[in-house]
Amino acid sequence: MAAFSSLTDRLTGAFKNLRSKGKLTESDIDGTIREIRRALLDADVSLDVVRSFTARVRERALGAEVSEALNPAQQVVKIVNEELTNILGAGVDRPLNFAKNPPTVIMLAGLQGAGKTTLAGKLGYWLKDSGHTPLLVACDLQRPNAVTQLQVVGERADVPVFAPEPGVQTASSDVVSPGQATGDPVKVARESIEYAKRKLYDVVIIDTAGRLGVDEELMKQARDIRDAVNPNEVLFVIDAMIGQDAVNTAKAFDEGVDFTGVVLSKLDGDTRGGAALSVASVTGKPILFASTGEGLKDFEVFHPDRMASRILD
Ligand code: GDP
Repeated sequence: MAAFSSLTDRLTGAFKNLRSKGKLTESDIDGTIREIRRALLDADVSLDVVRSFTARVRERALGAEVSEALNPAQQVVKIVNEELTNILGAGVDRPLNFAKNPPTVIMLAGLQGAGKTTLAGKLGYWLKDSGHTPLLVACDLQRPNAVTQLQVVGERADVPVFAPEPGVQTASSDVVSPGQATGDPVKVARESIEYAKRKLYDVVIIDTAGRLGVDEELMKQARDIRDAVNPNEVLFVIDAMIGQDAVNTAKAFDEGVDFTGVVLSKLDGDTRGGAALSVASVTGKPILFASTGEGLKDFEVFHPDRMASRILD
């Protein structure tokens, strides 16, 4: 995975010195831990996460039983793999939470440019592909082009879009023209749920406004939308490339909207994605999906164990 390629190289390098050893001494293990620590810090994994991670790996590596099946180097790799899986979400896959009585409501939150609108299209496409009838809802009324952008995404994914100030219904589909993108996002969100019930859409995906930085007004708006529609999921979308800011941004959104899950976006980027690796651990919230490109299909369900193995590959 591009965002982790340098981390992968560095970790592979850290294990290399162990390969020739028949038995590991404490100093062998400490040398390797030091390299792992540097690799993680250089990849922007947050200091607290690195500290507890390396402490656990060290303790387990020192206490590891001599194994018939694995040589010492393989044993350390296995421990690192398991602990990496742990920081990515306790090793547990967390599926999307669907409502017992449709529609399921999924709200997207995050900074501007994080990839929310793109994700709305991907999620819609993916849900439709698995037999759902999703509806995208344009509640980003801050950015002049946001509604139009969601409509373009919706058209590409062939998923209808509910937008403020409903205008002309197009003949070919249920797409609602946005007209002027003005209005109250809370009202639009609320109306979209009624609309979905009437038209039997079973999943409503609400795109919300993002700012360049965390600000209280944005947070309040997101909270108001959340409180108005009582979502089954509030997904926090985080750009894997934003570096150390990821942790503080995640904490701010966690406090602000108490999100239920995380989506890592832009994992195809070639800057270090380590900060995103800290997000699940720092917030205690699971990562549900990963976004890996601009196309509709550049999207996958997140599996902590598979991601750990890919990083160590
Ligand atoms: P929003 O402001 O949070 O709605 O972000 P957008 O969905 O508009 O995305 C911002 C930019 O990032 C757009 O140019 C997208 O095409 C791009 N983008 C979104 N997701 C990804 C991704 O996973 N990988 C890459 N490379 N680009 C992405």
